[in-house]
Amino acid sequence: MPDPRETPAMQQYYRFKKRYEGCILLFRIGDFYEMFDDDAVTVSKAIGLTLTQRTAGVPMAGMPFHQLETYLRKLTLKGFRVAVCEQLMEASAVKGLVPRAVTRVITPGTLVDESLLETDQRVAVAAIVPADSKNTASPARVALATIDVSTGDFFVSECLTTSAIDELARRGVRELLYIDTAERTAPAYVRDAASPLNIATLPRAAWHFRPQEALDTLITHFAVKTLAGFGLQDNEPAVLAAGALLRYVQETQTAGDDESREVAAAGATIRRGSLAHVRAPKRTDTARHLLIDAVSLRSLEVERTMRDVVMGGSAANKGGDGTLMGIFQLAPQGQGSCRTPMGRRTLREWLCMPLCERAAVEHRQTAVASLVADRTLAEQIGGVLAEIQDIARIAGRVSLARATPRDIVALAKSVRASAQLAHVIADAPALASLRTALETATRELADLPADIARLCVDEPPAHMRDGGLIRDGVDAELDEARLLERDAGSWLSAYQTRLVAEHNLPSLKVGYNKVAGYFIELPMAQAATAPVQLKRMQTLRNAERFTTPELSDFERKVTTAQARAQEREKQLFQELCDRALQLTAALATIADNVASLDATLALADKAHHRGWVRPTLTDAPALAIAQGRHPVLEEALIGSGGSCVANDTCLGSEAAALALLTGPNMAGKSTYIRQVALLTLLAHAGSFVPAASATVGMVDRIFTRIGADDALHAGQSTFMVEMIETANILHHATGRSLVILDEVGRGTSTLDGLSLAWAIVEYLAKRDDAPRTLFATHYHELTDLEERLPGKVQNLHVAVREWPQGGDHAEIVFLHRILPGKTDRSYGLHVARLAGMPKDVVSRANDVLKSLAVHTGAEASKSKRRVDTTRVSSVTETQMPLFKEYVPHPAVDALREVKLEELTPMKAFDTLRGLRDMVQD
Ligand code: ADP
Ligand code: MG
Repeated sequence: MPDPRETPAMQQYYRFKKRYEGCILLFRIGDFYEMFDDDAVTVSKAIGLTLTQRTAGVPMAGMPFHQLETYLRKLTLKGFRVAVCEQLMEASAVKGLVPRAVTRVITPGTLVDESLLETDQRVAVAAIVPADSKNTASPARVALATIDVSTGDFFVSECLTTSAIDELARRGVRELLYIDTAERTAPAYVRDAASPLNIATLPRAAWHFRPQEALDTLITHFAVKTLAGFGLQDNEPAVLAAGALLRYVQETQTAGDDESREVAAAGATIRRGSLAHVRAPKRTDTARHLLIDAVSLRSLEVERTMRDVVMGGSAANKGGDGTLMGIFQLAPQGQGSCRTPMGRRTLREWLCMPLCERAAVEHRQTAVASLVADRTLAEQIGGVLAEIQDIARIAGRVSLARATPRDIVALAKSVRASAQLAHVIADAPALASLRTALETATRELADLPADIARLCVDEPPAHMRDGGLIRDGVDAELDEARLLERDAGSWLSAYQTRLVAEHNLPSLKVGYNKVAGYFIELPMAQAATAPVQLKRMQTLRNAERFTTPELSDFERKVTTAQARAQEREKQLFQELCDRALQLTAALATIADNVASLDATLALADKAHHRGWVRPTLTDAPALAIAQGRHPVLEEALIGSGGSCVANDTCLGSEAAALALLTGPNMAGKSTYIRQVALLTLLAHAGSFVPAASATVGMVDRIFTRIGADDALHAGQSTFMVEMIETANILHHATGRSLVILDEVGRGTSTLDGLSLAWAIVEYLAKRDDAPRTLFATHYHELTDLEERLPGKVQNLHVAVREWPQGGDHAEIVFLHRILPGKTDRSYGLHVARLAGMPKDVVSRANDVLKSLAVHTGAEASKSKRRVDTTRVSSVTETQMPLFKEYVPHPAVDALREVKLEELTPMKAFDTLRGLRDMVQD
């Protein structure tokens, strides 16, 4: 039996498989895409396809061709890269092996097809390189480049290695390229940035990142002599990342030389993209942005709730319910949602990367304010925006030769609406810069939108192969083809009438059958009198058949009419696409400005609908909010008929910069401190805020350490993560930062935790330029710090109302109202009761609590354990019971067990070594 891997088709398969190393190869065979060997096994396992065998011993799995998109989506979500290998011709049209070529490479970070993208999410691919020549194995700084292939946005930046993850999260990176190493595994600095975000990593040859190669790739693509015009130095690390990244995108999106040769050899053509829409790399100017690291972005639930994060994936909560984004995204039209996908992506960017320059924020604020004030204008704008589709991504698909008929028609409509938009906002001074940009760019497009509208039908087909994109009556050649196709019958009868009249042969007939094709038929009796132009074709028993050059011409035309119509339509479509391709820069400008206007309107709608106010911005390190509400909670409560309790905040300037917030569980501490962070964030995004009034001093970073998100940090203990994050805050918070700490210290024993919390508060509050800080804690002991650090620390507590119920029980009601001063009870048992804990357990816990209180009080006073309380100056008498919880180190116990009188010098040494080992463990 011949080796099943030796057949010509399998040889062809292996050739492509080798060329697209690291990709899953989908190999078109007839109506199926097939995978073989390891690919088949891996994929069938990963997405649940049936595994079969081609011939004995070769595993195979496949999918029907029309389900390709569905499977591509599944595969890219799992992080696979996929090369789609198509048949270049129908199998019936060739003898022997069908020529094939890879027409698309789809990777998690380079998606462009509408069917594979979520409209509101950015998808980007990135490259990372060390920016630290001293230590390339574990660099202190790295450079990053990211490209969103669907829109052509290209960014570069340089940052601390530990902040790389933040930039990747903000840019929506799904795939990260790094310099291949000798060990063939991703170095730690790459893994640390990629794995918490579930980003697929991909090693690339080191020479792609070499200065000369990287620079060449960039200057060739952008047709420039140097990168200086982009504000980049030719040899800086970011350029190395950018060059290697662009090379990768070119490889996946445009036909390589091998492929082109193969296609040409088969006499076929495939169109692959040009990447004309990829814009010049822009440096992410971190100094212009309010930094919110990935951890804070998560814990503030800007894009995803903590629950989503723990449940692992956006799949759980696509709409963003419970997030800051969600209150805009999920709002009904006119109440805060954007009208276009571009607007939604921009609003996401504004919220994830707010600004920190006051003037820039005020510029946005003014635009928002103008639309809050003029609701008629707002509604007009909204109406026009609703007609605009995703210009940015359509332009991307045009440039990648993946545009559909619907894309091109939508493009024209959207551009015309954009021009109209410029007209609508003509009288709004706050929107002047948007208007100018829209006007200039739409003017650049000149006749293109009108030509598209003139040539194309209003309801275009989904695919070119369906035909019917171009209108009747706009192209003579196409009309002729269609006419022939549709009206062959009437042409024939007209022709017959003409011949009959011309030659006076009343029994002449023009006919058609499948075998003979078109013919002119005369009864045998008249055949001899046939005029000379009629060429004899076929003799039947009692009739003679003829043809004419005109008729055979007609025949040829009709039989190819359909193909010609399709071909001509394609050609016209292509011409339109090519014209659009020349205008990608103008399209990008339109897209950007439409997106800004859309996001601005969403902010204005929300402000109007929920009664938000414009915050006053100052450069002083202060924060004063009157009657602030939590924007997300408010939305949820209003939805269920309730309302959010409003609270004041005053940090910095007159008031102490650090506020300690104590109160029982479930009182609303976490909600309050998040609310302050979210309002600050909104203010920096240019938004109004849910409050009666607010003055916000510009902030350079928002730091948060809230709750436990251990699921994301597999392998590290929660407490370790808590300490790493807190250390980061203590190192990097400046006098202009806002710091939000929730229950820090909870992750360890009470005594450790309390001591740490104490020291952290002291460390932050004592600084001359203390950052504005909110610290929520259940350690009531910390409230002493207000007196110890006067003017530096203020106490806040959450009001609780108790309703005596007789006996030991008191019902408590959480008022969620934040007041100055401290509390000293934790109400844990009440919460347990509210949570539906069995009555017996609650009352037993009550008893235990009382006996413990008596016990530890008594124990503590006659405690024999020697602890140096004078050194822990912070720990007061009342906290002594806490020391009961102190668990001694096993070495201490062992030491206590040592019987000195029985020890020989040798044994003493062994014991000592044993103790030392214990301690080192
Ligand atoms: P804590 O952190 O003190 O344990 P949370 O902040 O988690 O308490 O709040 C507990 C619950 O109380 C929240 O889920 C919310 O439903 C409610 N809550 C908190 N603050 C408010 C408020 N200002 N208005 C209305 N309800 C609130
Ligand atoms: Mg809490």
